[in-house]
Amino acid sequence: MAAIEMKNIVKKYADGFPAVNDVSIDIADGEFLILVGPSGCGKSTLLRMIVGLEDITEGDMVIGGKRVNDKAPRDRNLSMVFQNYALYPHLTVYENMAFPLRLSKTPDTEVDERVRDASALLELDEHLDRKPANLSGGQRQRVAMGRAIVRSADAFLFDEPLSNLDAKLRGQMRTEIARLQRRLGITTVYVTHDQTEAMTLGDRVAVLKKGVLQQIASPRELYEQP
Ligand code: ADP
Ligand code: ADP
Repeated sequence: MAAIEMKNIVKKYADGFPAVNDVSIDIADGEFLILVGPSGCGKSTLLRMIVGLEDITEGDMVIGGKRVNDKAPRDRNLSMVFQNYALYPHLTVYENMAFPLRLSKTPDTEVDERVRDASALLELDEHLDRKPANLSGGQRQRVAMGRAIVRSADAFLFDEPLSNLDAKLRGQMRTEIARLQRRLGITTVYVTHDQTEAMTLGDRVAVLKKGVLQQIASPRELYEQP
């Protein structure tokens, strides 16, 4: 069974033009799928429909075998990392990472264990008491990832997570995300318009153009195409 199944998904905004047009994709359990394409092709819209931040006009979104079209984001058990990180400025790194666990009323000892595991994995141990304003861009990005991995989510969703970083840091974080995803073995959907990210990070790449799925293949298959 696929972890995430998109069946003939259509999204029409108020103007009636389909931002996403009849897209069907099955994402395997543990797969790292990249959604790539030029600005305005519908990548974010598709991702937001997976998470539940955007209503689906037509088609079925099936996660873990269950149709989730009408499920609120909090009932989908997915972790999303946003482009702007969406950290809470008044909370420490520790509490930013703990936040999803606090919401689900996880006992303190388990919160502590999970936050410490995630911070070790992301090399944030020494920054747990700091506030986001006192972190570098790369560290903030790591905190956002930490917050995503502390929960036992069914999938990670990334919306252009590296676009606010400089080129050098982007390269580093790219390696880190790939490592983390393999280590955790968690189903991942990653939106980018960056060709390098598309060709190096994922197991498969789905290419969107004007809301339509153009092709879906491994980076190698795409690379070897004439
Ligand atoms: P991408 O993430 O690939 O840049 P988007 O999913 O953001 O593309 O947008 C796809 C299309 O939908 C674009 O034409 C965009 O203008 C339109 N769109 C996105 N969000 C909205 C919205 N809230 N209302 C109306 N149109 C939107
Ligand atoms: P290993 O068994 O090789 O140590 P794990 O799969 O246990 O690898 O992951 C490494 C660390 O990442 C673990 O210590 C765990 O705390 C954390 N981790 C893994 N999966 C999740 C998850 N879904 N939610 C929160 N933390 C996780």
